[in-house]
Amino acid sequence: MNKSIEFRNCKNTFMAKNKLNFALTALLQILVTAVTISLAYVLMVVVQSMEQKDTAMFFQSLIYIGIIMVSFLLFSTLLKTIKNNYIKKALAQFKKYIFKKILDKSVGEFSGELSGKIISLFSNDLNSIELNYLSGTIMIISYIFMFIVTIAAMALINVTIMLCVLGICIIPVLASLVFGKKLMKKEKETSIENEGFIEQIRDLLGGFYVIKSFKAEKEVINLFGNQNFILEEAKRGRRDANDIMTMTAQLSSVLVLVVILILGIIFIFQETMTIATVIACIQLSNHVVDPTKFLLPLITNRRAASVLINKIADVVEYHEDTGEKTKISRIDNSIKLSELTVKYEKDKVALKNVNLEFKKGKSYALVGGSGSGKSTLLKLLMGYFNDYQGTAKYDDNEIIDIDLDSLYDVVAVVQQNVFLFDKSIKDNITMFKEFTEEEIDQAVLVSGLSSLISEKGMEYTCGENGCNLSGGEKQRVSIARCLIKGTPVLLMDEATASLDNATAFQVENDILDMDMLTRIIVTHRLQEQLLNKYDEIIVLKDGALEEQGGFDNLMNAKGYFYSLYNVANANANANDNAHLAKEVK
Ligand code: ADP
Ligand code: MG
Repeated sequence: MNKSIEFRNCKNTFMAKNKLNFALTALLQILVTAVTISLAYVLMVVVQSMEQKDTAMFFQSLIYIGIIMVSFLLFSTLLKTIKNNYIKKALAQFKKYIFKKILDKSVGEFSGELSGKIISLFSNDLNSIELNYLSGTIMIISYIFMFIVTIAAMALINVTIMLCVLGICIIPVLASLVFGKKLMKKEKETSIENEGFIEQIRDLLGGFYVIKSFKAEKEVINLFGNQNFILEEAKRGRRDANDIMTMTAQLSSVLVLVVILILGIIFIFQETMTIATVIACIQLSNHVVDPTKFLLPLITNRRAASVLINKIADVVEYHEDTGEKTKISRIDNSIKLSELTVKYEKDKVALKNVNLEFKKGKSYALVGGSGSGKSTLLKLLMGYFNDYQGTAKYDDNEIIDIDLDSLYDVVAVVQQNVFLFDKSIKDNITMFKEFTEEEIDQAVLVSGLSSLISEKGMEYTCGENGCNLSGGEKQRVSIARCLIKGTPVLLMDEATASLDNATAFQVENDILDMDMLTRIIVTHRLQEQLLNKYDEIIVLKDGALEEQGGFDNLMNAKGYFYSLYNVANANANANDNAHLAKEVK
């Protein structure tokens, strides 16, 4: 997509069904400004009435003051309400749009780095956008109006004074031009450093237990300190640029006052001005300096906020051009891999020249040592890789060409690392979708959750990332979550590793007993009774297919599987013996 279109899409969300609010806000802001400026005129009339000792004129000016106060109160109250509505709606719509766009991304496009960016965006960047872009735009409109009207009013009173004041206004304008660029650069820098800072906090807090148990507090505080310092340094640069611009503006406002006073005295002596008109000029000068003081920083800040919106547009709108994808809804025959090679990095081969066929409705056990490529194979089947050599097909459809949305209707995976939302067990199983009681009960039963549910109930809250449940309970919830989806292909990656032997046996056994399900199950618990139930055992070694076949065949071959089996069972026996020894004690 064209970059400027992305940017416009992002900005349009501020305005969607919000244009009237925006227009009214701008109008009311202009009215409030107009009322404030008109105070100079009233002041002039009051002083004139004093000069001329004209009581009628004085009372008339009192009426003006009354009108001004009432209108000010009315307009500013309305302004407050409508402006806040405008900003509320704009921000809520914008955030929803961003979040939706993020969820539109594919698994391949998402990364840890991206999530740091997005969290920073929701905290730091949105504040800046609210202040500098949304409120900023209104203020810019109001200050432009204020500047033009005030200069015109001054010109009506005395052209020389107006020209001198205009001349002085060039100072803050120049300062903004020079330091505005720096401000924008610093704004972007702050945003980038903030991303890094937030990413680091998440990372360090995620490892809280590890830090404590390895007594790494001091080292971690140093890590924190470095990034903290870099961020604050960037923010200081931003503040410096802002301060210089404010300082020059303050200087010019003092200059304007001095010039008006000097010229005013000269003109009063020359009798070309009265005290009343000089006072009106002084009152008006406030409204000249304010725009020059604020207008350029506002414009610069608004441009800086635009840069942020651009950055957000880049993050959320970017999609890899993946071309037309095939939609699938089932498998008819098999999943077939031919001469499949998968690499993480250039020289990091995780699977090499693998040839395999997983037939519909059959069960496959995937075994092999740690790092042999089991998880990689499952990831490939889930479509996580955009690049591989050889072919990998669901029936006749090459995985790389399959629309992932449709692939996930066909295949589900229970992963080693379980993620649970801080919602009820039921929500975590159904993933917030509607299922019948029977469907839920069945998933609960097969995943071995029945006793947990009868103890805690379906509405039990799982806690942040499931912290209210044990590792085994979390795994069972994630198994139930996959089973209830009812996909024809089920992948499991050491999904029963945290379960006790008996529960693990029961869960795996029940899953192997299910009808019409194609199963590829990574397992490290090598139990004869279960292994016998698989149609085929696939043995990987260093990313290559080492052996495949039924349990008895592989045992008789006395090859790699045979030794894996013996090692696993020797360990298991040793564990059992250790248990027994403990109990005997
Ligand atoms: P298994 O699940 O059998 O233990 P994996 O499929 O996870 O093995 O890993 C296979 C190989 O790929 C290992 O050598 C591992 O170090 C490497 N690997 C796994 N994940 C990544 C990754 N995200 N980036 C780089 N290398 C990886
Ligand atoms: Mg693994």
